[in-house]
Amino acid sequence: MPSIPANYPPDLTSSEGERLVEVVKDWASAHGLSVRPPPTVVSAEADPAGILSTAVPVTLFPSPFPQICFDQGRVVQKAYNELYAAISQDEEFLAQIVKDIGDSDEFIAELWKVHLKVKEEGYAQHLSLGLFRSDYMVHQSTPEADPQIKQVEFNTIASSFGGLSYQTSALHKYLAVNEYTLLEKPITQGQLTLPTNLSTRGLAAGIRQAFLAYGPSVTSHPKCVIFLVQDGERNVFDQRHLEYEVQAPPATIPVFRLPYSQIMQHTRLAEGEGERSGRQLLYSSPQLPKHTFEVAVVYMRSGYGPGDYTDASAWDARYHIERSAAIKCPSVLTQVAGTKKVQQVLATPPDASSSEPPILGRFISSKDDRNTQRIHHTDDTIAALQRTFTNIYPLDSSPSGQKARAIALDEEQCRSYVLKPQREGGGNNIYRSAIPGFLKSIPEAHWGAYILMELITPPPVHNTILRLGRLEQGGVICELGIYGTCLWDQREKQGRGIVMNEQAGYLLRTKGDKSEEGGVAAGFGCMDSCALVGRGHAKNSGERHD
Ligand code: ADP
Ligand code: MG
Repeated sequence: MPSIPANYPPDLTSSEGERLVEVVKDWASAHGLSVRPPPTVVSAEADPAGILSTAVPVTLFPSPFPQICFDQGRVVQKAYNELYAAISQDEEFLAQIVKDIGDSDEFIAELWKVHLKVKEEGYAQHLSLGLFRSDYMVHQSTPEADPQIKQVEFNTIASSFGGLSYQTSALHKYLAVNEYTLLEKPITQGQLTLPTNLSTRGLAAGIRQAFLAYGPSVTSHPKCVIFLVQDGERNVFDQRHLEYEVQAPPATIPVFRLPYSQIMQHTRLAEGEGERSGRQLLYSSPQLPKHTFEVAVVYMRSGYGPGDYTDASAWDARYHIERSAAIKCPSVLTQVAGTKKVQQVLATPPDASSSEPPILGRFISSKDDRNTQRIHHTDDTIAALQRTFTNIYPLDSSPSGQKARAIALDEEQCRSYVLKPQREGGGNNIYRSAIPGFLKSIPEAHWGAYILMELITPPPVHNTILRLGRLEQGGVICELGIYGTCLWDQREKQGRGIVMNEQAGYLLRTKGDKSEEGGVAAGFGCMDSCALVGRGHAKNSGERHD
């Protein structure tokens, strides 16, 4: 590997900073590395037609990231895809998870009811699509030890930023060729190792494969893909990049954006009318009154949190989608598989007194890999997955739950932990010293709906973030996401019946080291890409404290 310059990323002179701001903000607008502006920047009154966009916050340099950690994440992704397909296939396991979370979490309880209702009449579609993203931070147990990745969370619904991530890698590659070479302390082109990132193409390929696997239209209508989105979505261009890639020739696929709140107005299930009824989901839009489409794939970029379920009719809409013959990304079962409770159950070792075998053995079994014609070695796969786990505890009355309660309520120990509810989308966690007070403020009977997770503390890295036209320089924390796509038959068990399993590019999100949350859309983090480094650099940068 070529050696990265010492003290990378470099400190910039003020004129270098000015130039990079100009170059990056224009490149971002020209290539759609953008979001709708936050209301704090442009009020709704100032932009009533919603015509404005703005560059997404981004680092001026790709952050140094250990190559061995990057490889570790990529290599383990297919095992993760298979693991979560297998969990989704294991209704009995998920039923226990929902029970453990308890009724205090109404959202999860309602979601489960949707599944039970559809199960009663029988599912009309057995194929399930996962566009996953497994998120990690770098962990180094001692300065001498090799860094490794530890999982922050596994996303099974609305795994976002694939579109913008590809663009960010492209931006940094552009800068490496055209700008970094001109700096006062120039970085020559060969000095940076910038990995290929096909996130948009990889995710789109997953949707396309599901579209094909759906089979021919059963009704007289052409097939389409629906992106189920939120009203007023600011991260719309990230989604658009993915849409354009799904629609790209030669096999042009019609894609429509449908706000979650309008499901019932614009879709119905086929029944009679000359259409053979198998609960095919039909989509028609008042904007295109002459056209009706049979929906092959529903890709959800909404519906992951209570905010989209404002009343009972929103739950009816989810039930309507779930019972349809469209391939869901994700199904309700796959969404529940992505809860933090599942992650905790996978990571918490069995109590010493228990004779139960490790839980991963329930999902990962020896089987032929259709793609490589090789037999998986179960023990190796399980060990590779386990290496990415960090300590996570339940807060129930089990022995490990009791241990966790003591930690969570202790003013000193709680500082190394984060408390998480069963929510997605950022802004829901309780950090460090806020944990004891928060727990005491809610009934003890509700504690089981939370998990307690050890904080991962990656070695310090420096960078400069361009946010809303201004530069922020200082210590940053990077979070690597690896995308994966998987299509499987829900009637099988233990990850059998997988028809597609691919690793699909990466995301690097970076935040200032004073911020707890890292969500780009939530306004805390920024987009980044990886400049891969060997072991030496991780150590050196760990010694910088400015
Ligand atoms: P969400 O579903 O809301 O994205 P996450 O589990 O990803 O929830 O947590 C949100 C953010 O909080 C992460 O992106 C990360 O910045 C931070 N975070 C969560 N868990 C940890 C952890 N164990 N160690 C360090 N940071 C964490
Ligand atoms: Mg997250």
